[in-house]
Formats: sequence, structure tokens, C-alpha cells
Amino acid sequence: MSRRWLFADQLGPHFLDDRHQEVLLIESKAVFRRRVFHRQKAHLVLSALRHRAAELGDQARYLRTETYAEGLRTVREPLEVCHPTSRRALAFVERQPRLTVLPARGYVTSLADFTDWADGRRSALRMDAFYRFARERHDVLIEAGEPVGGRWSLDTENRQPPPKDVDRLAVPAPPKLREDDIDAEVRADLDRWEREGIRFAGRDGPRRFPASTKEARARLRHFLRHRLPAFGPYEDAMLANDPWLAHSALSSSFNLGLLDPMEAIRGAERAYHADGAPLPSVEGFIRQIMGWRDFVWQLYWYFDRGWRDNNALAARRHVPDWWQDLDADVVRARCLSDVLGEVRDHGWTHHIPRLMVLGNYALQRGWRPTELVDWFHRSFVDGYEWVMTANVVGMSQYADLGQMTTKPYASGGAYINRMSDYCGGCPYDPKKRLGEDACPFTAGYWSFLLRNRERLPGNARMARSMKQLDRLADLDAVADQERRRGDDPP
Ligand code: SF4
Repeated sequence: MSRRWLFADQLGPHFLDDRHQEVLLIESKAVFRRRVFHRQKAHLVLSALRHRAAELGDQARYLRTETYAEGLRTVREPLEVCHPTSRRALAFVERQPRLTVLPARGYVTSLADFTDWADGRRSALRMDAFYRFARERHDVLIEAGEPVGGRWSLDTENRQPPPKDVDRLAVPAPPKLREDDIDAEVRADLDRWEREGIRFAGRDGPRRFPASTKEARARLRHFLRHRLPAFGPYEDAMLANDPWLAHSALSSSFNLGLLDPMEAIRGAERAYHADGAPLPSVEGFIRQIMGWRDFVWQLYWYFDRGWRDNNALAARRHVPDWWQDLDADVVRARCLSDVLGEVRDHGWTHHIPRLMVLGNYALQRGWRPTELVDWFHRSFVDGYEWVMTANVVGMSQYADLGQMTTKPYASGGAYINRMSDYCGGCPYDPKKRLGEDACPFTAGYWSFLLRNRERLPGNARMARSMKQLDRLADLDAVADQERRRGDDPP
């Protein structure tokens, strides 16, 4: 059996054929020079890589080099590697002599199965159809050939606003992670790298995300037992004082390869069958993993390289510095200030603040999708090119005009007001689109529609909003106001 080279996002036992297989791990400093990563993300990646090396002991050869190429030059024996997670890394491994590239791991559906499924479809590729295919293919939440509960998706039961008059969900927090000597060494190294000129974004802080399979499994077990029941109904809700709500906070563990997604899926099924966990929560959790996560992974490879550069809504403005620098303190709009602050402080927010606050705001302003892909990639602990290309280009910025979603995720302040407790403490009024206290999301929504009415003519799901747009008497004044506001922090 050849020695297996594991990238830093292939760290779990499911990336080896045998628990005694010899391993190569390379810590490349050049990766951290290429982008201004969030400090906590850099810490997590290095900590996970070094924890894996410590677990493997003599079984692993650990190299600290400037580049991967430099590391590989010191290895004389034949190597193998699982299909990496970016096009750039794939091109690199395919150029290497004595390196065999194996199929991808760490996802539920194989690239070949997805291609067979997608090639055979006449209609656009949609997550719900893929999810059904994957459930059937892998026999998940199925009884006698039918979906458990009679429906494939219980999404309509997963969109409740937060409970009234609470500022936190009543669920136990995930088990606390304890930093160890490896974390201390990582922190010291990053401090030194900063002194040498490598730049990081965001604030440092205690490590909040698992750096080993053991930690990830402990978080999964706790989630399935204590947090899963509340996850489903409130998965789209936002609370200013409770960024985590009942989310599993395991996305970085899946994306580092610490946790096999199928292990989490089977665990959720058991929680339903054996422990009475509510079906909408179980199905919602499983849909996030084998539906959405696998779908965005697959599209990254299925669509051609040019997909990342789509910009069908002609969004040409540069992402402003205050956003790039995570400067939440200059923002008065409470929702945006809070969410940007969470990214600065944790390198994480759940999917709705990403999509409906950050993505929505950027979409309305017409910021460049490629710059946003890069920003999400480097600012989030779970961010990688494969996941952010689909999430930004295909979903939040609608830059491909609907290759993966049916309409732009644009909305005014009413949505945020319904799904959060933000608006009460905000100087803006979610109902107003004109005036000093006009909500930047509400005003931005109409100005986005006006700017793009020629580019979105045939979208049936936007027809009602477009009709409303034509009836607004103050539209020119709103558009003028938004031009004046420009890209200043709201
Ligand atoms: Fe956000 Fe508008 Fe609500 Fe303020 S009023 S919190 S800007 S949605």
C-alpha cells in the first residue's frame, strides 16, 4: 500500500484505506501568503493538521515547507492522494510524477454518480431533485421505497421565526473545547508569521471549532442528543445575542474532512428511530448535509471552470474596504453590524445571516461576485473555493442567472424583521424605503430590482415584485437616495 498524502481538508480516518496506512502531511506556508485569511481559520487549519500528525505519530511524515512542491521533492517513494477540493490543487497533483490521484472522499455522492444523474436531466439542476436522488441511492430516511413521513422535504416546517421574548434559544451549548499545547504552538507561530509580514483578518480568540475527529464526534453526539430537536424549526431564525442557536457548528469539521458526512447522517437517522428526535429536524439536518453540501460540491466540478467568473447581473463595484476588513463598528444597521461582527469575532455565522444579510446586501449593491467568493472563502472557518463558488455565484449573487436556483435571494427588511430580533434596536425602519431612516435592505431591494429589470424579465418568481416596482411612485427618489448612499457603511 502506498503512502497517502493527505491535504489539510482530508484529515479524518475515512481518507485512509487502513488505519495503519503510512501518511504524508505537508504544512505549506505559501497557502497563508496567498490570501488574507481570518486568523481563527488559519489557526483551525494548522491546529487540525498538527493534531492529525500527533494522532498518527510515527505513521505520518510531517513536513513544514514553503510550498507543496518543495515538500514533495523530498519524498522519493510513490504516493497517492484523494482527489483534492479545488481545481488549482487538482491540476497540481495531476502534474506530479509518482503520485496517483484517487477518487474524492468526504462527500456522500460520488462525482461519477452525480454526472450520470445530471447528464440525464433535461431541466435545470435543482437541489431538491438531486437530494431525492441521493436519498434513494443511499437509502436514507426511506421506508418501503417511500420517504419517511411521506414527503421528501419538510422545509416548510423549518422556517419558523425565533420564539417571542427570548434572546437565546433554550438549548445546551456544545461541549467546550479545550486548547492544548498544539494550539499554543500554533498561536505562537501565527504571531511570528504576522511579525514577518503575513496578514490575517478578524480577531483571534479561543478555538471554537473541532480540530480532531475525536472533538468533532463529541460535538456531533452532543448535537444529536441535545440540540437537534430545536434545530429544525429555528434553522432560519436569527437572534442578536445567540449566533449559534441550535446549529450543529460542524460545517468546518465536515470541510476539514474530520467527520464523515455519512456518519452524521446515520447518527441523525438513529436519533429519529431510536430516540424520538422530531422528523423535521432530522430531515432538515440531513438535507443540509447530503442535499445542500453535496450539491454545491458537485456543481463546482460539474460546471466548467468559467462558472466562477459568471457575472450576468453586471455587478462591477468593488467590495469596499470596511467590509473586507470586517469593520463592523462603522456600521449602524443593526443586522449587518451584528453579523459582520460575528464574522470578525468567530469566522462563522449560520447560513441565513450569510445568505439573507451579507449576500443580500452585496447583491443589492452590485459588488463583484469573484471578490465575494474570495472574501467568503478566506473569512469563514468552513470556507473553501468549492463551497463558496456555488454559494456566492449560484445562490446569493445569482450571477449565473439561475443555473442552480430559481430566483435571486434578494429581500427587503421585512424578511429580516420577521426572522430576527434585529430591527427593534436599529436606527432604520424596515418598512421605509425613503428618508433618513429608510432601511438599507428595503431601499436596496427596490433599487436592485430597478437596476436589473431588463436582466430578470423572464423570471416567473419575480413577476409579482416587478409589477409592484412599476406601481411605486417614489422609485426614482429611492434609486437616487441609494446612489448617494453608495457603498458607505449603512
Ligand atoms: Fe437590518 Fe433594516 Fe432591520 Fe435595521 S431595520 S435591522 S437595517 S433589516
